Amino acid sequence: MFMIKQVFSGIFQIKVPLPHSPLIHLNSYLLRSEEKNILIDTGLNFSQSFQSLRRGLSEASIELEDLTEVILTHFHVDHVGLIPRLIEASGNIKISIHPIEAELCRILSSTYKDLFAKIETFLKSNGTPSSIALKLTESHPLHEPKIIRPYQELAVATHPLEDGQVISVGDYHFQIVCTPGHSPGHICLYEPSFKILISGDHLLPSITPHVALWWFTENMNPLADYLNSLKKIEKLDIEVVLPAHEETFINHCERIKQLQDHHNQRLMEILTSSNSRRFTAYMKASQVHWNINYKSWNTFLPFQKYLALGETIAHLYFLEKKQLIKRTMVDQVLYYSINEKAKKRKKY
Ligand SMILES: [Zn+2]
Ligand SMILES: [Zn+2]
Repeated sequence: MFMIKQVFSGIFQIKVPLPHSPLIHLNSYLLRSEEKNILIDTGLNFSQSFQSLRRGLSEASIELEDLTEVILTHFHVDHVGLIPRLIEASGNIKISIHPIEAELCRILSSTYKDLFAKIETFLKSNGTPSSIALKLTESHPLHEPKIIRPYQELAVATHPLEDGQVISVGDYHFQIVCTPGHSPGHICLYEPSFKILISGDHLLPSITPHVALWWFTENMNPLADYLNSLKKIEKLDIEVVLPAHEETFINHCERIKQLQDHHNQRLMEILTSSNSRRFTAYMKASQVHWNINYKSWNTFLPFQKYLALGETIAHLYFLEKKQLIKRTMVDQVLYYSINEKAKKRKKY
């Protein structure tokens, strides 16, 4: 498979391998011009990924020292992982990210010591049995120094990106479009003249972007944000989408419709599969049909259970805000019950 492809004049897609990840690659994009060279997203913090990125850049006649700026679409590890190595290699490279994402990096690195207590409490309060909550906490990726290291870098100094800001490189004038949902400060880059969207993880051709509610995003409504961000992108005149995973694609409105249908079905599934008894988010996560290859909930890997739980909580919170379900706390565990009228609805 090619590792680098010039997708438009001066815009290169570099496939950075993601070791041990089912996502396989991250698409990093190089915007090359006479005056500046901007990299969008980086890859996981592994030597193999770093070497591939370096090789890809040099095929586009760019050395690490020639990079002037890195723009991060969001704070997830597969996008920010190589930041420490890029800072080390390129000196005073400018790092730009939305301020909400920079704040999350500060939270994840500054509360490091009591981070795992918070994760365990969050899991238990959502109905995860104690032994499983302990297992999920002990196997959490944030235990690995190579995961936490980029957050420590990003917590210190970044340049804030804001909605509508224009990034000019050569003939291109990319607009920053805030698209919260997959993460609270996720951004896309839109070029209106060339009709190009660099979509990060907001829009992927076949993978459904993960939308979850976590202990560090409490009181946010990520699914409502995500659906609103889909509508925002739907209105744009786009010919080609350059996603952070998988391949470039066209027909963004068709893909948006599929994603809207997916979430509507998931919301209906949660409501109609629930009898009148109260349930926890963990119980519901174990009943939902997930789009991965698995025999039963018990065969999920610990981190898959963690992701499924976060996604279920986002859907439950969305339904609660629409007053279709009720939430009550009993002995420090959150229970949900369905408003009977909600079951008759066809669309949410
Ligand atoms: Zn992501
Ligand atoms: Zn990603």
